[in-house]
Order: sequence, then C-alpha cells, then structure tokens
Amino acid sequence: MSEQHRASGVAGEALAHLPPDFVVTRPRRRDLWDTVLGMLDDVAERINLDPGIHAILRQPERELTVAVPVRMDDGPIRVFTGYRIQHSSARGPCKGGIRYHPAVCPNEVRALAALMTWKCAVVGIPYGGAKGGVQCDPKQMSREEICRLTRRFTSMIMPILGPRRDIPAPDVNTDAQIMAWIADTVCMLQNVATMEIVTGKPVSLGGSQGRKEATGRGVALITTELLKRQRRRLSETTVAIQGYGNVGSAAAKILNQLGCRVVAVSDISGGLYAPGGLEINAIDRHVDSHPGRLLEGFHAPGVDRISNHELLTSKVDVLIPAALEHQIHADNAPQVQATMVVEAANGPTTPEADKVLHDRGIVVVPDILANAGGVVVSYFEWVQNMQCFFWEEAEVNRHLKRIMVQAFQRVWELSERHHVPLRLGAYMLAVGEVANAVQTRGIFP
Ligand code: GLU
Repeated sequence: MSEQHRASGVAGEALAHLPPDFVVTRPRRRDLWDTVLGMLDDVAERINLDPGIHAILRQPERELTVAVPVRMDDGPIRVFTGYRIQHSSARGPCKGGIRYHPAVCPNEVRALAALMTWKCAVVGIPYGGAKGGVQCDPKQMSREEICRLTRRFTSMIMPILGPRRDIPAPDVNTDAQIMAWIADTVCMLQNVATMEIVTGKPVSLGGSQGRKEATGRGVALITTELLKRQRRRLSETTVAIQGYGNVGSAAAKILNQLGCRVVAVSDISGGLYAPGGLEINAIDRHVDSHPGRLLEGFHAPGVDRISNHELLTSKVDVLIPAALEHQIHADNAPQVQATMVVEAANGPTTPEADKVLHDRGIVVVPDILANAGGVVVSYFEWVQNMQCFFWEEAEVNRHLKRIMVQAFQRVWELSERHHVPLRLGAYMLAVGEVANAVQTRGIFP
C-alpha cells in the first residue's frame, strides 16, 4: 500500500481492498504542477500580469500522450505510456529533456515543461519549454529493451519534434546513448541527416564538448556566485549533495576542484558522510565500476553511512538537492541545517518547505536558475549543429560561465530591489520575459 493510502487513515482502510489503479478518490498529495501553477499565480499578481496572458501561461500549448508497445527480451509485449508536453513556444522552439521513471505522469511532465519555459527565459536563451517522459522502470529493463522503447517512443512523438519545433535532451535516467537512438530514429524515418533534432548527444555524433558536465558545472558556478555575495570563501565551505547521477556527481567533482569540502553525498542506495571531506575521485571510480552506477558498497576509512534524511539535515553550509522533486518538504525543512540551498534538481522544494526555509533565513537559489547550465550548453550544441562548426571545451565553458553569472546577477539584483526571495525574483524575471514575447508577437490569427 502506498504512503498516501496509509496516511489517509479510515478512508485509506476502506479503499484498501481495491487495486491502487482503480482508486480514483484517493487523496492526492500536492503535486509539482500545483507548485508550479501556485508560483505563476503569485508572480502574476505581483507583476500585474495581463489576465489573458496569465490564462495562456497556465496551460501547456500542446500535449501528446502515446502508447508505446515494446517486445520484452523474454517474449511478451508490454505497453508503456509516454508523453511530450510543450508548455510554451513564445520565445522560440520548445526545449526540454525526456525522463524514464516509474513516477512519470501528465502533471509531472506539465510542470517540468513549464519549468523549462521559465528556465530558458531566466538565462535568456531563445527557447520555449517542453518536457517528455515515459512511465517505466529502466532499472528493471535491459539496454536492448530501452533502445526499442526509445525508438518506438521517438517515432510516435516525431510529428511534434523538429530542430525548429521542439528539441529533446537527457533528463532523469536518459543519457547520450539514448539521445543518439532518438536522433538515429528520426534520421532513418525522414531519410535526412537531422542530428540537431536532439541535444546531449555523444560528442562523436555532433554533441557538444562540456555538455555532460554542464548542469553540474552550472550548479558549481551559481554556488560560487552565491558564496561571493555571502562573503564566504570556497575553501571554508562544506557541501552536501542529494543524488549522485549525472548532475550531482559533476557538481561534487567541480565544487571539490574549486576547494569546497563535499562532506556528504547520497543516491537511492543510501548516503556517505565524512566530516573532513569525501574523496570524490575514489567515489567516482567506485560508481563507474558499479553495475547500477551506485554508491552502494563504497567503503573508506572515516566514511560513515547515512540515511537520506540525515543527508538533507546534515550540518553543512550548502545543501544541493540533485535528485527528484519535493524532497525538501514541511516535515524535514525545519531540520535543515544548511544556510544555503542550491536547487540542482527540478522542483526539489515544496512551497510549504520554501516558506519554512525563508522564515529561517536560509537562502534558496531556485532550480530555474541553479540548474540551467544543462540547457545553456544544449543551446550551444544546437547552435554548433546548425552552423556545422564546433567549439573547443574551453570556449563552451567560457560562454556558460558568462551566461550563468549574468543570470545570477540579474536575479540577485531584481530580488534585492523588490525585497523578495530569489525564487520569486527569478520567476518575476522569467514570467515577465515570456509575457513580453506573447504580447509582442500578438495572438494568432
Ligand atoms: N533536462 C535538463 C533540464 O531539466 C536539460 C534540458 C535540455 O538540455 O534541453 O534542464
């Protein structure tokens, strides 16, 4: 029985005999779409947003749901549900990742698509926002099954994709190889070389140098800027990171190189803690050789195992949630000991927790700014693809730094001017830019 059922007491018991899929009345926990709409509504009021434009931004422009049949390795066919949702194309072609996860559902994809719209606007890159996902458990699937799922899903969402329409990228549980399969599927079906249909590809197939670490590098750049504003030295800063996937591990590596002490990291297998600082290189070697790329089984002198809760509430300066949404909530927010939170994941803080953190004087750098490094380098990849001219990694990183630092400064200054938290400042900036684009283009026809 799910947590939701158990928490719902009498109603939960009465419904307990029904298979969960049939229980339509079960109390729904607040989801990420509620959170994202709540933020938009707050900002709309604050910036006096035209009610018509507010109504436009409250709904995704286009939603596609597809049934994806896959022949499993042992013979039977399974049908997975997939989504591609385009929230806004006001500022340019839609842009956003594709995730493979058991929790993928329409409201999650809607919310993540809207977050992409705001993210691209905050950093000023010429895209709208979209997101895709397939509800599946890739940890239980073979690479061949994932390949077949990817190709069939791609063929079904292809009518709404295109380098000037909608450009997918990696997200939770998807990687450069999966992007290569997406690009190859489109090229085969259209009989045209269209590698720019997707970003986050392997470098050998037109991917950009620096794209793999870009989100983590962006998180590290934003953390550095925040520490400067707080008059703190990198070398005197301790960090805890929840999630050790592509984003968390790159952030750990780069912050460690910059001189921070990364004292705690975690993933679905549990957490590691060393007050004197973890040896990130040793951890990376372990993860690289683990079949599921997990921290599980890592041992080193002076390193303790900790729980997810202990990680989120550990005594550090900077907490970096780099896993899934709504990890910091009303129950654990009062115990967070960090004085700064840098949101590497999308939507890791519930609105209730956000308020608790704010009231406790904890500075939160919102996801749409903190984790924008990934889509910024996706933009560079797309530009390089369109121009058929490729840049060196140093050039990619230089442009990434310029854009992230500028965006941080704009958000910081706007927030100070209006005496609002950074999240509200970032949303005021983003929603303002998108509203302006809608207004200026006019309503077709
Ligand atoms: N999935 C990443 C994000 O949430 C990257 C999206 C992209 O590069 O298009 O920002």
